Amino acid sequence: MPYCPKCSYEYVEGSTICPDCNYTLLAGEPYACFNCEELLIEKHIFCPHCGYLQSEFLADEDEIMCETHTEGQALGCCVICGKAVCTDCSVEHQNRIFCSQDEHVKISEDWAVVFTTNIEYEAEMVRANLEGANIPCMVFSQRDHALGLVIGDMAVVKVMVYKKNLGEAEEYLKKIDLFSEDSDEE
Ligand SMILES: [Zn+2]
Ligand SMILES: [Zn+2]
Ligand SMILES: [Zn+2]
Ligand SMILES: [Zn+2]
Repeated sequence: MPYCPKCSYEYVEGSTICPDCNYTLLAGEPYACFNCEELLIEKHIFCPHCGYLQSEFLADEDEIMCETHTEGQALGCCVICGKAVCTDCSVEHQNRIFCSQDEHVKISEDWAVVFTTNIEYEAEMVRANLEGANIPCMVFSQRDHALGLVIGDMAVVKVMVYKKNLGEAEEYLKKIDLFSEDSDEE
């Protein structure tokens, strides 16, 4: 049955769009990350929530290598910067993978994700709006890394704000409603 990659709701055969999320439905069964159980779609080689590599999605002959130790197989990618890491150069923290840059663990403690998208310009719009409202934010894109090739147009882009600003930022984004169906965003 076709299902929505965003809300995982399953629709009857022949449906193509989730009316709630506006996402194109995918064929087959929803797949959840083996580690954190968040719903993933086929192109999420790395779980965007915890960073773990989903070898299930790789073809048999495919291997994903660590970006630093090119002879070592990647365990996953840093949830902050998207860099592919192996067991030697990664840190696990709260069940999520980080690269060995301590700063990134710290970022995850002080910063929260306010917006996730596969579309770079959406993230840029959100960033511009938040900055316009004087809410500091950062954009992290997996596309900055060599694996763009594998992840294709499903590279995950995240907009992050300080945890203390999260409520404010969410409320602000809701209010300006950047991507509503009524604003003619095509
Ligand atoms: Zn949906
Ligand atoms: Zn996961
Ligand atoms: Zn990192
Ligand atoms: Zn490594």
